[in-house]
Amino acid sequence: VRALPVLDAHAERRVEPRSVRLSLTDRCDLACVYCRPNKRDGYCEETLDLAAFTALLQGLYAGGVRRVRLTGGEPLLSPIVVDAVRALHEVGFDDVALTTNGTRLAKLAAPLHAAGLMRVNVSLDTLDPERFARLTRGGRLSTVLAGIEAMATLPFAETKLNVVVVRGENEDELEALTRFAWDRGMTPRFLEIMGVGEGARIPHKLVPYAEQRATLSGLLEADHGAKDVDRGPARYVRARPEHGPHRIGFITGTTDTYCDGCDRLRVAADGTLRPCLATNDGVAAGAEAARGDLAGVRARLAEAWTAKPDGVTFRGCTEPSAREVSIRSIGG
Ligand code: SAM
Repeated sequence: VRALPVLDAHAERRVEPRSVRLSLTDRCDLACVYCRPNKRDGYCEETLDLAAFTALLQGLYAGGVRRVRLTGGEPLLSPIVVDAVRALHEVGFDDVALTTNGTRLAKLAAPLHAAGLMRVNVSLDTLDPERFARLTRGGRLSTVLAGIEAMATLPFAETKLNVVVVRGENEDELEALTRFAWDRGMTPRFLEIMGVGEGARIPHKLVPYAEQRATLSGLLEADHGAKDVDRGPARYVRARPEHGPHRIGFITGTTDTYCDGCDRLRVAADGTLRPCLATNDGVAAGAEAARGDLAGVRARLAEAWTAKPDGVTFRGCTEPSAREVSIRSIGG
């Protein structure tokens, strides 16, 4: 195993931790084929409670982190999710966002909005109930559609539809999913399957960005797409004017990586700080969080950040280390 290239290039680029993806739970009620092998693949024993999560996030805020996204696992399975959103809002984060599979959104969209949630991404790969059940190993599409309709009635600052494009499953639905999203005020985003965990075992299911883009060319301007300033890895391409003021996002975690300039870390449900999605490296900060030791959390953050791969020579989710990572466990 070669040593990961860390910090030197990083220090030159002066990238500081600014954004965190937080797993309140590693549990999920679905088992998407590119994410986990089955529903019995094991959960972590101990997860932090609300007070410890809050202290941990206060420590990260003190260390310069300004944006937080709840993910997982399925964050809406956590009994503390609404209280956690309220707590994050009170800590003062500029951005409090959520990524969800939507199965519990019908009930939770309104309380989450009232608690201060600003932006929501819903993951949905197909509008066909049978395909949905197959891709998620047993999920019911109607629950997610009800969640999206409930969310769409609320004035969230931004909502997106995340679609992982899977060869032989949904590459014929890209236009229908785009129109579904646009009709509900959502921005669709199409993701390549990344070679992380189960995704690494199905490389033949990859539909490269260039092919996704060609499929959607009738809807899109011929520009190269721009990144959202200060946000995640997607590139956004404008719709042709006749389709209205819409956009489509693309996330190319496999044919192109976007690690250069990454300011993101992850917090697993047990309080481990994970500097990179593509490695299993991490620094435990759960004990400091549980005793409310914010300086201790900052010290663990600094330690975790030195283990962040340089993002230039290290090619993220295309590296062999990514195969050993469970996205569900560390916060996808
Ligand atoms: N349960 C939530 C959900 O489904 O959105 C949050 C966690 S899930 C791991 C976060 C995102 O990661 C989802 O949009 C999912 O489709 C995506 N994802 C999981 N495995 C992936 C892979 N191998 N390649 C690309 N995206 C993946």
